[in-house]
Amino acid sequence: MDIKEFIRNVPDFPRKGIQFKDITPLLANGQALRFVIKSLADEFRDKDIELVVGPEARGFLIGAPLAYELGAGFVPVRKEGKLPYHTLKGEYTLEYGEDKLEIHTDSIKKGQKVLIVDDLLATGGTIKTVVDLVEKLEGNIVGLAFLIELGFLEGRKVLARYDVRSLLEF
Ligand code: 5GP
Repeated sequence: MDIKEFIRNVPDFPRKGIQFKDITPLLANGQALRFVIKSLADEFRDKDIELVVGPEARGFLIGAPLAYELGAGFVPVRKEGKLPYHTLKGEYTLEYGEDKLEIHTDSIKKGQKVLIVDDLLATGGTIKTVVDLVEKLEGNIVGLAFLIELGFLEGRKVLARYDVRSLLEF
């Protein structure tokens, strides 16, 4: 299946000069959605993943069905102030802006096998923050999975220590 067909390029969103990769056409197509979730799961199926960790909001859309497919649990990483219980915080710079992310302090047990997931890898800033949060909780990061990788932004460089997989590269 050619999943690139389901990714819409939106010029100048959310700011002038940014070519935004819109995944909503893919999410809206049952066959395409099932194909990408199964394909990402196949990359890590034999790794005994216990937890999938994904940042809001698009990391939830890919991460929760991926966790289900792998028989793993899902742990949300959210913007500051959204999680109700005790949290650990991390700051990051995005391709367009800055933000803080949080994870529940009791969401990962020491040594648990974790797969970190997001829809898209750009500079790697967001996912590096998620990596640092998981490492502070002493999770064992088995790999990182993305639907899309923007290769020219070289996000992989900040994740050199990890097994990084993506289905599509632009
Ligand atoms: P990074 O932190 O790697 O620079 O940016 C990746 C984060 O920003 C991801 O959480 C992703 O959802 C969001 N993002 C940045 N650019 C795009 C884009 O073109 N399309 C989509 N769908 N998300 C993007």
